[in-house]
Amino acid sequence: MSEPILPGAMIGILGSGQLGRMLAQSARQMGYRVTTLSPEQNSPTGQVADREVVADYANLDAIEQFARSVDVVTFEFENVPSEATSVAARYAPVRPDGRVLHITQNRLREKQTLAAAGLPLTRFAPVSDLASLNEAIAALGCPAILKTAGFGYDGKGQARINEASEAQAAWRSIGEQSAVLEQVVDFELELSVVAARGLNGQMADYGLIENRHSQHILDISIADLPLSAAQTAAAREIVYNVLETLDVVGVLCVELFLTKAGDLLINELAPRPHNSGHLTIEGCPTSQFAQQLRAVCGLPLGDTQRHSAVAMVNLLGDLWEVDGVIQTPNWPSALADPHVNLHLYGKAAPRVGRKMGHITALATTRDQAAQRALAARSALQSS
Ligand code: AMP
Repeated sequence: MSEPILPGAMIGILGSGQLGRMLAQSARQMGYRVTTLSPEQNSPTGQVADREVVADYANLDAIEQFARSVDVVTFEFENVPSEATSVAARYAPVRPDGRVLHITQNRLREKQTLAAAGLPLTRFAPVSDLASLNEAIAALGCPAILKTAGFGYDGKGQARINEASEAQAAWRSIGEQSAVLEQVVDFELELSVVAARGLNGQMADYGLIENRHSQHILDISIADLPLSAAQTAAAREIVYNVLETLDVVGVLCVELFLTKAGDLLINELAPRPHNSGHLTIEGCPTSQFAQQLRAVCGLPLGDTQRHSAVAMVNLLGDLWEVDGVIQTPNWPSALADPHVNLHLYGKAAPRVGRKMGHITALATTRDQAAQRALAARSALQSS
């Protein structure tokens, strides 16, 4: 058992977006120092880190120097090349292990690993060319969704196929690259479970979080989805099984569909803190970021019990635009509700679809929390 990494040590974060920023904020709160590495300058993470290294993930010399200068390496961006994590692992512990990244950065590998562990998944078939796509359509039926195996998120690199005749157009639209065909799930709702596993195998989770999407991007998350006791236990069992199967040290999120028939199916994994877990910052004694830090530093996990109802809405760059004109959102109006908390990620340019920040609302019921969060977001565009 390795020794815990104690406050004062340097945490190395590969990636520099909002997830790294919130992880860095937790790290600083606990007296750790932070170095971030990414190709971006003045990044959301870099703004709050002690040191910002600007380098490409494929620059293995820069990765080596980075890893030599930190006590542990973690990541907030999962599309870091495997070579980078292998090089880093020669000089510092990488948590979770690069193997976890390697599996989860490819949809096909991820699904095959989960299927081999007996976990419930959307029906899928591998696609490597047009002929195998046609075979997959024959096997799974329509409607189906074609998803690139690598580097996809928030619905990017995806094409819906409603009839077999659309196969060729779909294959072209995803760039004729290795892919997975998935049966379209007639789901009742989408949910996620954010959980963590420590270095000693201790596990903890934040319960069931309901997620609603808009244009394939997470729109609102509401904690404590009230499913039956059996479904709740099944969802927890799935996430713990995933954590153990992949031997994860750190936080991981499992995104799930609840089908109309009441079954739970895994959609995808994120081997890191997740957008749907941002509500743990105000809603729980230990946020998903503080938990990530505890896990990767080999410390005991913290309490995940929610202390009030809580909901989170994302703030996309779209909110800055009113009738085609870029405007400052009406922050005072949103914050007029004292139960509302604002998080902004320090991104300069508000582009459509870009995650600029989020709002969390606390309440006594989950409906009230959702209404408060949505009302605060609407107020941002009031004059
Ligand atoms: P993904 O990037 O795979 O998480 O997909 C983004 C969103 O597309 C999901 O959150 C769902 O709302 C929708 N989606 C993805 N795959 C499926 C599926 N097999 N059936 C129904 N909806 C899906």
